[in-house]
Amino acid sequence: MIEEQKASILIVDDELSNLNVLAEILKNKYKIILSKNGKQALELAIKQPPDLVLLDIIIPDMNGYEILYAFKNNNLLKDIPVIFITALSNDADEEKGLLLGAVDYISKPFTPSIVKARVNNHMKIVRQRKLIESIAMLDSLTEIPNRRNYNSRIEMEWNRAVREKTVLSLLIIDIDCFKGLNDQYGHSKGDEALKMVAHTIFNMINRPADFAARIGGEEFAVLLPNTPAEGARQKAELIRAAIQSLGISHHYSPVCSVLTVSIGGTSCWPNNENHLEDFINAADKLMYKAKKEGRNKVVWG
Ligand code: GH3
Ligand code: MG
Ligand code: MG
Repeated sequence: MIEEQKASILIVDDELSNLNVLAEILKNKYKIILSKNGKQALELAIKQPPDLVLLDIIIPDMNGYEILYAFKNNNLLKDIPVIFITALSNDADEEKGLLLGAVDYISKPFTPSIVKARVNNHMKIVRQRKLIESIAMLDSLTEIPNRRNYNSRIEMEWNRAVREKTVLSLLIIDIDCFKGLNDQYGHSKGDEALKMVAHTIFNMINRPADFAARIGGEEFAVLLPNTPAEGARQKAELIRAAIQSLGISHHYSPVCSVLTVSIGGTSCWPNNENHLEDFINAADKLMYKAKKEGRNKVVWG
């Protein structure tokens, strides 16, 4: 599930000849973004965070240390490796740069092949970090997003909905009488069923912002940004029906001879007066209501 994309490098230098030389040696392997001043570099980075930054120190509008400091104080940018590439070559300058959090320090005049080798080394670490981060966001059994991923996504979507004044819908999906399936058919059959349910839910979300995760043992969540109640409720019903149609034998369930789910769903227009926690609790309660009302159903509220 990890996309192979060309990594990007933001190069900040007020001298065009330096920008050109650096771009020339790196452009085959990386997507290059150039900036001649600090303010613009920051704006570009915030708009589209690069994977690495090559940063001059003496720039007219903002010096390189200030830019690095701004990166370190921005949650979106703080982990991006920054390499200073500068005419300031004494030890005190280098020490200051490294103490501020630069990953490397290259003095001008630079040797292009050495810059290239250093950049490649740091990019290798970037790739490894991204891989670890992406693994940490996936559930190991089903390979769909996990609870940690869901927690950060729902907060992000909630804040976005507040800003953009849009509606947000949430489904909480819990397998019915799953303990019985494990007890009667064995844990590995249970795991298989979990994978099938997870993939069914995951494959049924199709808009780019839609999101599905395994948030507990046999519990899943679907987040539908910008989706009003009517559409989201239909989606919940489609998911419920699709899982029943998988036909996973569950003869010991008092509900149905195949595996089923109960779904609680709700929609909300997030603003500064309502709370994410209440929204999540509401969906949770509705799921329990579906259980109480006989399971294998969608309860909307
Ligand atoms: P209800 O209809 O009320 O939801 O009943 P239930 O049996 O589904 O709910 P309960 O919470 O009592 O049991 C959940 C079961 O899910 C118990 C646990 O063994 C099982 N489970 C949780 N995680 C896994 C897993 O990763 N693999 C398997 N095979 N079973 C799991
Ligand atoms: Mg259950
Ligand atoms: Mg449960």
